[in-house]
Amino acid sequence: MSLLVRAVRGIGSALLPQDCFLCGAATGTELLCNDCRDNLPKISLSSCPICALPTPGAEICGACLTQTPYFDATHSCFRYAFPIDRLVQALKYQHRLVVAGFFAHTLREASPTTLRQADLLLALPLSALRLRERGFNQALEIARPLARQLALPLLIDGYTRVIDTAPQASLPWKERRKNIQGAFECFLDLTGKTVIVVDDVMTTGATLNEFARTLKKNGAAKVINWAVARALKH
Ligand SMILES: [Zn+2]
Ligand SMILES: [Zn+2]
Repeated sequence: MSLLVRAVRGIGSALLPQDCFLCGAATGTELLCNDCRDNLPKISLSSCPICALPTPGAEICGACLTQTPYFDATHSCFRYAFPIDRLVQALKYQHRLVVAGFFAHTLREASPTTLRQADLLLALPLSALRLRERGFNQALEIARPLARQLALPLLIDGYTRVIDTAPQASLPWKERRKNIQGAFECFLDLTGKTVIVVDDVMTTGATLNEFARTLKKNGAAKVINWAVARALKH
């Protein structure tokens, strides 16, 4: 499918009356019917404020205590489980932009006010190769409506991903950190800024950690991850 056709379809589906993406019930212009929306796998309210993994009493988790990540906080809405995985895939591989709008809206609605006081937004970048393959960056598509809703600037240039390697979940944390080191380049002056980093799915956190390390090197005072879904260890 050409980029143009995909873009037009994306726009079309955002405006036309539609059926619930998951069960087919009529929804007006919403992506999901109320039932399906209420049954999405919400993330536990009791979770580590730094990495969003569930913890008793919302304490900082053991992993973050042992080795403090470069990011300062993580805000997420869902567990990466059915049917959130299907929605993420529809955005990523079918370019269903309406899903990005839904994610942005949900992220903002669920965000604590303390995490909204940022200076700007960045979207976790894809490598040039991946961007060419996919045609767009799903994190950026979520960040665009989110930035509008938060009335914050979204920077789209001045930072890139130069290495594609995904940190392997099977590796120990230390190895994962090494495996992803140097993956990003950033030419922005972020001195004293609080930055929100938007991503679709946070898996091990190693990629976001490396991105946060890069942003801190460029002067960022605070880095807050906003990831739609959080993959949980089993
Ligand atoms: Zn439904
Ligand atoms: Zn943690």
